[in-house]
Amino acid sequence: MTGDLSIRLRYLIKFFRMTKKLKVLQGLLELDTGSKCNWCPGCGDHGILLALKQAIFELKLDPEEVMLVSGIGCGSQAPHLVKVYGFHSLHGRAVPVATGMKMANNKMHVIIIGGDGDGYGIGMGHFIHGVRRNFDVTYLVQNNQIYGLTKGQTSPTSDHGFKTKTTPDGAIEPDMHQLSLSIAAGASFVARGFAGDIAHLKELIMAGIQHKGFSHIDILQPCVTLNKINTYQWYQERIYKLGEDFDPRDKAAALAKAEEWGEKIAIGVYYEEDRWTYEDELPMIAEKPLVDHDISGVDISEDLKPYF
Ligand code: SF4
Repeated sequence: MTGDLSIRLRYLIKFFRMTKKLKVLQGLLELDTGSKCNWCPGCGDHGILLALKQAIFELKLDPEEVMLVSGIGCGSQAPHLVKVYGFHSLHGRAVPVATGMKMANNKMHVIIIGGDGDGYGIGMGHFIHGVRRNFDVTYLVQNNQIYGLTKGQTSPTSDHGFKTKTTPDGAIEPDMHQLSLSIAAGASFVARGFAGDIAHLKELIMAGIQHKGFSHIDILQPCVTLNKINTYQWYQERIYKLGEDFDPRDKAAALAKAEEWGEKIAIGVYYEEDRWTYEDELPMIAEKPLVDHDISGVDISEDLKPYF
């Protein structure tokens, strides 16, 4: 190859790479609502939002077929920031809202997003039963080990001894083991990501969305304002990726791995299995979603009479 040709080839490759990057950027901008984001600079929620948008873009999901449901918390602002269908619901109630939406239109990609206090605290009952029923939804838990929106109380994932304004002598309770709990409750996809590794997190979110069944992704999300212990650096010193030698289809190995916390913290897919979803067992939506059923001849006025 002559020198001239090789230079032209290099420019061409650079041009294609740039075009690809521009396309990604354009795709991400198209998913932006333009709403003002009120997260603190450096908050892990920014990384999670970017990974989510990239996953939607790379999977080529039609924004009109995506529903983002949140509860209450700092990160629950997400549905305002992504140009897909969105619902900002009540504290701890994102799972039942998402369940209703999935039942009404099972063709939608329903993604739940919310914090650790929201999902593992007040919403724990809904979370466990959502997991057990195996609805085909994806649950992204922004786990910052603290209540951020209410200015820093201990959450269910705060480590034992964690000091806050409301627990000046340190948290008395042990931290919960949400991944083990989720696997034991019957989750068919359990993963853990890190807000500081957006490329890896994007892959996990894509895998979760593509998984048929309830996919639970716990995301380590530094709260730079209120949690001065579990910082980006704290995580970076401990985090490692699950390797090829780890088999996420081995439940016993997944449970053992899910118990690991402290000096070493694994990110990646912990557990995955193929099993029937709740929707699979509903004959009325086998052909088409409920929203597409013809209800023009249905009269429920008699059923409603006792209530009026
Ligand atoms: Fe993020 Fe913490 Fe700020 Fe909330 S308080 S926006 S979780 S950094």
